[in-house]
Amino acid sequence: MGGAAIEITVRGVVQGVGFRPFVHRLATRCGLTGWVENTPGSVVLHVEGDAADLSRFRGLFGPGIPPAAKVTRLSVRKAAPAGVRGFTIRASRRDGIALSTIPPDIATCPACLRELADPADRRHRYPFTNCTNCGPRFTIVASLPYDRERTSMAAFPMCAACRKEYGDPLDRRFHAEPNACPACGPRLSVRGADGAPMESDDPIGIAAAAILGGSIVAVRGLGGFQLAVDATNDDAVRLLRKRKRREEKPFAVMFPDLRSARSAARVEAADEEILRSPAAPVLLLPARPRSPLAPSVSAGLPTAGIFLPYTPMHRMLLDRTGRPLVMTSGNATDEPIAIGNDEALSRLRGIADLFLLHDREVVQRTDDSVVRRVGRGIYPIRRARGFVPAPVTLPRSFPDVVGLGGELKSTFCFVKGDAAYLSQHIGDLELAPSRDFYEEAYRFFLRFLDARPRAACHDLHPAYFTTAFAERAGAERIFSLQHHKAHLYSVLAETGFDGKAVGVAFDGTGYGEDGAIWGGEFFAVDGMEVRRAGRLAYFPLPGGDAAVREPWRTALSLLRETLGAAEAETAARELFPDVPRDSIRLLLEALEKKINVAPTSSAGRLFDAVSAICGLCVRSSYEGQAPMRLEGAAARAVAGTYPFTLPEVGGQLTVDWSELVRGTVSDARGGLPAGTISRRFHDTLASAVVVAASRLAESAGARHVILSGGVFQNVTLLSRVLSGLRKRKLSPLIHRQVPANDGGISLGQAYYAAAQVAGG
Ligand SMILES: [Zn+2]
Ligand SMILES: [Zn+2]
Repeated sequence: MGGAAIEITVRGVVQGVGFRPFVHRLATRCGLTGWVENTPGSVVLHVEGDAADLSRFRGLFGPGIPPAAKVTRLSVRKAAPAGVRGFTIRASRRDGIALSTIPPDIATCPACLRELADPADRRHRYPFTNCTNCGPRFTIVASLPYDRERTSMAAFPMCAACRKEYGDPLDRRFHAEPNACPACGPRLSVRGADGAPMESDDPIGIAAAAILGGSIVAVRGLGGFQLAVDATNDDAVRLLRKRKRREEKPFAVMFPDLRSARSAARVEAADEEILRSPAAPVLLLPARPRSPLAPSVSAGLPTAGIFLPYTPMHRMLLDRTGRPLVMTSGNATDEPIAIGNDEALSRLRGIADLFLLHDREVVQRTDDSVVRRVGRGIYPIRRARGFVPAPVTLPRSFPDVVGLGGELKSTFCFVKGDAAYLSQHIGDLELAPSRDFYEEAYRFFLRFLDARPRAACHDLHPAYFTTAFAERAGAERIFSLQHHKAHLYSVLAETGFDGKAVGVAFDGTGYGEDGAIWGGEFFAVDGMEVRRAGRLAYFPLPGGDAAVREPWRTALSLLRETLGAAEAETAARELFPDVPRDSIRLLLEALEKKINVAPTSSAGRLFDAVSAICGLCVRSSYEGQAPMRLEGAAARAVAGTYPFTLPEVGGQLTVDWSELVRGTVSDARGGLPAGTISRRFHDTLASAVVVAASRLAESAGARHVILSGGVFQNVTLLSRVLSGLRKRKLSPLIHRQVPANDGGISLGQAYYAAAQVAGG
């Protein structure tokens, strides 16, 4: 044997994705000997042989890494040849496996799809086929290490044929934990609206026929139930809205293939990559004007949420219907997604006309993920299936800590070593079922990671569920962190940036350090020091939920600030003809007497107000509707701006929006189209952000600008800010792994607490 050896350590999502068989095949092909093994959080391999063979191995290694693997770190070092014969895949090292890298669920791979369609294959039309490159992972795991016995596949003993594949290092199904076939694996069944079983050997055919007939079908998917209807049938979609009590929020649509997706949305090459990626998320894209989708799918927004079938069952269902299907979480609005058959039969009764069930338990409740694209990369909106529990890799190692998240779009985040594990999207914690889901997921992660958090970090808001939950985290130290600072820390965690920067957090609302409601903040960032350096000018925010549900209320406050009470009343009557005059007068009185109002710098509420002023959203039926409508309108209009000023107020740079608001009001009263006003508003606000950030950057000697907060999900605003910053030779830092909205703040909280604990 030749005299050289190397050892390669690969970290990241590298287990359960076919890494060891890949190494085995490559080493054997290159005539090398050695071994490969899983260790906690990494794969380590040792290969030895001729120097020439080793270098061929190294050359082929990088490009050949299995598609579902996500390598965050790879190190190669010289090793001493051990004189081993052959190549072996060593059993997983179980000792001390606490922390591991369970992969996220992976969309069905091309090889499995070929078998699914092949009448000669024993898995022809088998809806649960998968291999080491694809299939369920996180959603079936009950505990660690990740082996079949500890997944919901334990209920299905493998047949001889499957066992042979599972044990053969050269097979595509070697150690594919959910490996199954029609002889031994899970099965589909159908039940009627009343839950009564229906006899059939073609459950998918029955479901497809029901959907084509306009029915609503509850489908047990990967992370829980989905409700499926024909996306080209407006009556069916409207029926779904009515039964699900979801009046206007757009629905995601699953398309049979990219070609049909292109009929409904503008899909560019980079979008295709995202749609076909192993995570297979819902991607928000610009809708086409003559789309085949029923108008009620998008509910007035010019975007379409599109995804492709990511399990064999979805593939088969879409093949049978041959048309796009609305696929929405199986729940009534605001509740967590249903996962169990019985749970679905009771909770979705009255919503679904038919149930397409299967007998493999969903262990981890997980919704579909939603992303946008910014540049060539993804920009997460909702991080769940396909991404969780892949960790965000931190720039260095830290003690165990946990960030508990906020109240809306909640997630939590455990830091362990140099990895930050975010939970799946849990949702709004105002309701008891979501709180139960939070606690259930929390306990799982705690156990799964064998975490012993030394510190827990919560939001500054005293009334959040997660703030109270901190007491129960069992940590020695409890930190609180202002909401918008947490947004910025989450970008720091993701990027590993450590230096001087300007931070911009544009958001809905968050509890501020001065008792005001923050939401349009500028910060001076220096390493882990974050100091408020500027903001949008405060305005009185009418209190309570009514202001969020009725954007005209926030608008009225801004009208009063810019035009005075009398003129505001006249303008409001003109702009909001459907709002009772009494309501307008009452609110003006409350604002005058400062009853139930708090000062706010919220950028999100500014969007609400302008959306109302333009007549796009005077009343809102879901969170974010007003700004989404406003962004939607901007797409088709020509550029323009309103004036703004940046005075210094009490040592802080302040974005004075009064001329901006005055401009929108006068345009709206002058009958200008909403699109034009919206476009001017976006352009103006973007330029205010760019000018303010560059002024702060200059005085701080910084070259980077961090952008976070839910308002930056608005890519119309974001892209203008990005290009404006680049024109001024400033480098923007944005989210790529966690959402800019409140789904990302648990990472920021955890990173902050980790740094505090590490620092003493
Ligand atoms: Zn596969
Ligand atoms: Zn089998």
